[in-house]
Formats: sequence, structure tokens, C-alpha cells
Amino acid sequence: MTMAPTPPPPPPIGQGLPSGLDEALVFRSLFAAYPDGLIVADAQGRIVLANDVAARLLDYEVDALVGLGVEALVPDAIRPRHADYRAAYGRAPRPRPMGTQMDLVARRRDGSEVMVEIALSPLQAHGVPYVVAAIRAIASYPRVRQALQRAHYAEQVAQFGRLAVDAREPEPLIEEVPRVAAEGLKVSCAAVYLLQANRLDFRVAASVGACPGELPGDIVPNRPDTLPGRVHADSAPVQADEAERSALAVPLLDRGRVIGAIVARADAPGRFGADELRFLDALASLLATSLQRAQTEEQLSHSQRLESVGQLTGGIAHDFNNLLTVISGNLQVLEDLPAIASDEFAQQIVGAAARASRRGADLTSKLLAFSRRQVLEPTALDAGALLRSLADMLRRTLDQRIRIEVDAPPDCPPALADAPQLESALLNIAINARDAMPDGGLLWFACREVPARSPDLPAELAEVEGTSYVAIAVGDTGCGMPEETRERAFEPFFTTKGPGRGTGLGLATVYGFAKQSKGAVALDSAPGKGTTITLFLPGEPHAARVEAAVENTASTLPPGLRVLLVEDDAEVRSVAQRFLVALGCRVTACASAEQADPELRPDAGIDLLITDIALGPGLRGTELAELARQRLPGLPVLLMSGYASALLEAPPGWDLLRKPYTRAELGRAMARALRPSPRAPRSPG
Ligand code: ADP
Ligand code: MG
Repeated sequence: MTMAPTPPPPPPIGQGLPSGLDEALVFRSLFAAYPDGLIVADAQGRIVLANDVAARLLDYEVDALVGLGVEALVPDAIRPRHADYRAAYGRAPRPRPMGTQMDLVARRRDGSEVMVEIALSPLQAHGVPYVVAAIRAIASYPRVRQALQRAHYAEQVAQFGRLAVDAREPEPLIEEVPRVAAEGLKVSCAAVYLLQANRLDFRVAASVGACPGELPGDIVPNRPDTLPGRVHADSAPVQADEAERSALAVPLLDRGRVIGAIVARADAPGRFGADELRFLDALASLLATSLQRAQTEEQLSHSQRLESVGQLTGGIAHDFNNLLTVISGNLQVLEDLPAIASDEFAQQIVGAAARASRRGADLTSKLLAFSRRQVLEPTALDAGALLRSLADMLRRTLDQRIRIEVDAPPDCPPALADAPQLESALLNIAINARDAMPDGGLLWFACREVPARSPDLPAELAEVEGTSYVAIAVGDTGCGMPEETRERAFEPFFTTKGPGRGTGLGLATVYGFAKQSKGAVALDSAPGKGTTITLFLPGEPHAARVEAAVENTASTLPPGLRVLLVEDDAEVRSVAQRFLVALGCRVTACASAEQADPELRPDAGIDLLITDIALGPGLRGTELAELARQRLPGLPVLLMSGYASALLEAPPGWDLLRKPYTRAELGRAMARALRPSPRAPRSPG
């Protein structure tokens, strides 16, 4: 060991001690009465002297402390380096005051640790160096208390975080949060509030402490005069201090939207500061993340299930559609034959077959609607007018005990959707409402604009930039749905109605229609609370494109129109050909684009090209139409298909006809194709 340099002489204790007081006596009583722990150690680090305070602080008897190496008082983590520190101090001993800059920890006999501050001063006795250490426990200092409190919060959050990562479902976490919050914050009450689907109320999902109005299941209105309501309004934490109580509420956020709140309440004022806010906020983001994850997973599996059922039904429905086109077309031709027209019995039979084929067409169109392969012709439509006329119709047909109300503000902008399909979706919802209210009740319709990115939009639409939506809600005061029904209500063929009463296709078509219209549908229902179904449809900013009235009828077709018809399915072709003949046209029918090609000459005198889009191998109908327009600029073209996706191939502005069609529908579509169009100006001749 190197020789320690001589430290400065200790300052004199005082001049002229009263008689009878010698330094040794003063030293002994000071040593005993001193409020900090005092230890004297020799150059080897062995304790040679300790006072009672030090012994108590370190959990030893004084006698046990004396003789111990100071390393025993050092936490395990520091011990290997401590001898070096001590040696360094021995080389340059100088008084080191108690600082507040360093957080030191001492190890007690039982292994527990205590936060301390330590002052060192060297002592030279007869040339032998010693060190005096004054040790002060500081756990009760405000600064230290705060640090300990923060460590405690961090530990609680970390524990909850591990739970959140492992949790397969959010429910156990929701249950856990109030307990963690109440214990962590040492407060009496804590609760998790979740915003209900109607966004008008919060429900207490879990709570501890039984504060009034805060029991699980309690409903609290989403208004600024309630704590969670204020959190929702501000999208930010809220702190409420009263004379004898205080409360803190933080939002649960899902992509910036408030979906709930965590509330903590204490029986003392001013209990919540920045650290408490950070703690509760950390719990909130962990919980919100798991809620979000669970919701995404659920939506994904729900939509995957609906998607795969949709794929299946869509394929079948498409084949069916072609069959029905043939059946119903031939029946129409049959009906007009003179032999049948004059035979009442034959007419009855044909009529029954025609009705059955219409029902079949209805069913297939529902399946196509669900699988989003329906042919939609979106136009800007006035939702209010549509609701009012639907309500009028329902007032005349539904049970008088069902009251019908419409709330449609005049400033509601037009929605972009297929009007007949929207009407049929709303009718489906209304019929369900009727079924849910066998003893009468209220059926209401409402529409309003929902701006882009509004928190009122379903999550899947909230991220669509720049599109505002029109929400059309249909509500009833009927029996409502239990959770098992709610979860499956949009599945095709899911019904709770008896055989022959429900097909389970109503809401499935509503779902498919909403999705295909680039919108969404939301369902809010609870047993005894009624049901509200809300359709969100894209708003149409260019209101000018309001649906052109269907003023064109077959009668406006010029007689003797020369039509080039291209259709690969022989039966469908022959039905179309008969329709055209019945409409007074001269028809050239072809089975493929290649066969039609030579007819596309100026001298062939074609007035209108009608072509199916999917034409089997070879050119598609859309390609044929392009070719025709190059060769014969201005030639009117009508494209047909039973496939929505095929019709999507058509350039905008082209006239489309969905299959199956009636003769009248064909006539109207032809008239539309023939009218002089401002969108596609035709060169004269
Ligand atoms: P369906 O009406 O043929 O049963 P839907 O697809 O229209 O098929 O509805 C599926 C199921 O959803 C219904 O059988 C019913 O259980 C439930 N449902 C739909 N609308 C309502 C409503 N307004 N009130 C209560 N339950 C409803
Ligand atoms: Mg139904």
C-alpha cells in the first residue's frame, strides 16, 4: 500500500473548552448523539467504530458492525470496484461533503438496499490514516420520494405491459387496468370507460372502488359535463380538482380517435400531478393498443370469412344469371306468340314460370349483391327524397302500429350510389325492423353529412383522404340483437327466423352493397334496446350529376334500326335477337368479336353495336368496341355483362346493361346509347 500523503490537520473543536469537558468526552457524546450514521474505517476498509444510528440504518448491532469490512455495506453490483475507489481515496484523501448529486445505495444485513448520502473525511491518528463516513438515509427526501415513486410507476407499467403483450384477448386487460391504476396511484376508485358504438354513451367496462355511477355496465352520456365526455370532446386528458376530491381521466385512443377513457378518483384534492398523468397515460396506450389489435384481428377474420363466402356465391350466381337470362327471355318470347296469347291456360302456365324465374333472378341478384359483383350504376342521389318516398310507401304497407319518422336535413349533400340498389338495401333493413317489432314501435330514417376523417366514420373509412360521406341510418325500437346474432348478422344465409320466414340474405346484400359502393355499414344493437343500422356512402361533391330521369323508353327507338349483336352464348344470343326483333330492329348476330369484325365497315350501315364483354377466347367486347369506334367514329355502343367486374373495364361514359335484362330494359338501354351524348361527342355522319 502506498503511503498516504499527510492530510490537513483537523480544525480545532473550539477554544477554551469549559473545565471538565475534554475532547474525548465531547467526541463520545457527539458520536452517540449525531443524527446521521457515523462509521470510522481504517486504511484496509475495516470498520473500527460505528454509532447506533449507523447500526440501525444498516440493520446491524453496533458490535457486529465493528470489525466488518466496508465492502459488506456496498451493493453487490458495485462491490468489485469498491476496493479501487477506496484505494483512490486513500491516495488523495480530502473531505467530501454530502452531495445531492449522487444516488448511493447501501446494503443492509438482510440484503435489502437503502438510499443514502455519504460524506467522507480523512482522519490521521498517530500517523495512521482512517476515514470517517457520515451516512444519511434519504428515502424520505421529496426528490428521492419522487424518484422512488417514478420507479414504482415504471415498474407497474412494465408489468402491465408484459401482460398486454401476452394477452390474446383484451377483456382480461380491461379488467386488470382499474386495479393496476388504483394500486399504482394509491387511490380509491378507478374505471375503464368504453365509447359505445352509437358514440352517444360510454359504458363502464370495469372498475374498482365502487364509486357511485361507476359500476361495471353503468352508462354515462358522452357529454362535456361527464369526465369521459370531456376527454372525448378535448381528445386530451382531463384533471378535475374539488375541495375534497380530485380526479384524473385520460383518453383511450385508436388512431387518434377517442374510443374510451381511464378514470382515477381520489378522496383528497390535488392528488394528481405530472407523474400520475404519465403513469395513467402509459396504461391507456397499452390498453388502447391491445384493443386496437383485437379489433383489427376480429375485423380481419370477419371480413375474410365474408370474403370467401362471397367468392363462392359469386361464382354460382354468375352461372345462374346466364341461365335465367335464357329462361326468362324465352318465356317473354313465348308469351307473345299468337298461339299462346290466345290460349288462357297456356298463358297461366307461362305466367307462373315467368314469376318463378323472376324470383330466381331476385335471389341471384342478392347473391351477386353480397359478393359485390352486382352491376352498380352510381349516380348522385338525394338521400332525403329517397327516404321520404320510401317512408310513404312503408306507411301504406306496414302495420299501422309501426310509426315511421324521417329526419332528413335539407342541406344533406347528395350521395353517390346506385339508387334502386340503395332503395332495396333500405327496404331490407326496414323489413327486418318490422320483424323485430311484432307489436309495433318506431321505425326512423335519418341522413346527414359526415365530413372526411370524422371520428363518426367507421375505422375503415376514417383514413380515406378527402372523401366526405352521407350517413343513412335506419333505427327501430324492436327486440334488438344479442351478441351472437350481431356478430353473424351480415353473413349470408344467417337467419334467426323460422324456415320459410327468413333467407338470411337481407343484411348480406346490404353489406355487399355498402362495400361495393366504396362505403361501409355499421350495426348498433342490443337486446331490448332496438337496432340502428347506418350506411355510409361516399358523398357526391358534384351535385350536378343528378340521375337523369329514365325518360327513354323503347318507343323512342327509331324503327328499322340496324343492330350488330355480339354474344358468345348461343341461347342468350337468340333471346337477345328475338327481343331486338320485337323492338323493331334489323339484327346481325355474331358469336365472337372476330366474326363481327367484317361487319364493322362504313357501308354496312350499322346504327348500333351491342356486345357482351366476356366473349370467350379472342377479343373482349370492350376491345371490339374500341376497334369499332376507331373505324366508325361516333358509332353508338352498348356493352352488356352479368359481371360487375367486367363492366368496370368499360371506359367511363359508355353505356352499360346488366344481365339478366327484360325486353323493356334492353330498349331503354339502347335509347340511352343512341341519344346524342355530351360526354362522347360524335362526329356527324
Ligand atoms: P333474415 O331477415 O332473412 O333473417 P337478414 O340478413 O336480413 O336475414 O338478418 C339476419 C338476422 O339478423 C335476422 O334473422 C335477425 O336475427 C337479425 N336482425 C336483422 N335485423 C334486425 C333488427 N332490426 N332487429 C333485430 N334483429 C335483427
Ligand atoms: Mg331480412
